[in-house]
Amino acid sequence: MKTTTYRVCTLCEATCGIAVDVEEGRVTRVAGDPADPFSRGYICPKAYGMKAIQEDPDRLRKPLVRDPGGGSFREATWEEALDFAITGLNRVRQSHGNDSVATYAGNPNAHSLHAMIYGPVLTKALQTKHRYSASSADQLPKMVSCGLMFGGALTVPIPDLDRTQYLLVLGANPLVSNGSLMTAPDVKSRLRGIRERGGKVVVVDPRRTETCAEADEHVAIRPGADAAFLLALVNVVLSGGGAKLGRLADSTLGLSDVERVVAAFTPKRVSGFSGIPEDTIVRVAREFAEAKAAACYGRIGTTCQEFGTLTSWAVDVLNLVTGNLDREGGVMFPEPAANRGGNRESVPGPG
Ligand code: SF4
Repeated sequence: MKTTTYRVCTLCEATCGIAVDVEEGRVTRVAGDPADPFSRGYICPKAYGMKAIQEDPDRLRKPLVRDPGGGSFREATWEEALDFAITGLNRVRQSHGNDSVATYAGNPNAHSLHAMIYGPVLTKALQTKHRYSASSADQLPKMVSCGLMFGGALTVPIPDLDRTQYLLVLGANPLVSNGSLMTAPDVKSRLRGIRERGGKVVVVDPRRTETCAEADEHVAIRPGADAAFLLALVNVVLSGGGAKLGRLADSTLGLSDVERVVAAFTPKRVSGFSGIPEDTIVRVAREFAEAKAAACYGRIGTTCQEFGTLTSWAVDVLNLVTGNLDREGGVMFPEPAANRGGNRESVPGPG
């Protein structure tokens, strides 16, 4: 008899809903769940591949241990394997200190409720400062800038793709990544949705990426010039109509410092540095500021570079001064579906 079980794909941040058909203990089909309000039936090839992973003869089904001194692995019970790991970890910590142990969390662990609940418990018990993840590999500048700007490492505002009218993408290729730090299953349909409702998608990237095929415009930029480009956009906005802080006016500090900093980043100067024509910088700034709702989104190309933290900050300064921070159709702060045990700031998850 066939039964269908509904789960969430944990292979990436998009967390698509999946429907898994099982007959006589065997998975017969993995499909998208059309009733999932977030992914709406979409899954990518990785989720289809879960059946093959499940049946792969090389998949580990029991713990393996290798006794000290080398040799080949042998099967062990869970009790033996856990004792083995605990003994080894404690031996290393006692001999070389807590920081001699490092942890790494990546996909799919970072999107598993089990790991979200118990991972922080383990890392806290180990008392090591060496905690690595996909975040530390490619997004910490964003978390640093958001931590300083908004007060918490996981306070990263993400674009409201389904309501925005102008999406400015820098250093990101969501058609391939499925929208890292954006959590957006079926990005292609969502980008098309912006254009179908009369909006605009602009991609700023040194390379003509796959996402450019779904955009209205590709603006080629010299690698590493994103911060200067964004500060030039802010310069145009502030020297035009000024900042539109709206209800955030009372909670915004340091705008006069921003005005002073961006004064040097004129479109003319930044044009030479970035390789983007002056009139394109001015036009993009005005389009962004005048759009009914606009969102600026930067990803790995803006963080894994010389000015990663500055660029990450400038993304949200642009959103802020155009009235698009923390509003529908702009960038918004997501509410987690589950409380991460009070460790949200100390345990960054991968994006
Ligand atoms: S985009 Fe693919 S890998 Fe990511 S959650 Fe959805 S189905 Fe899984």
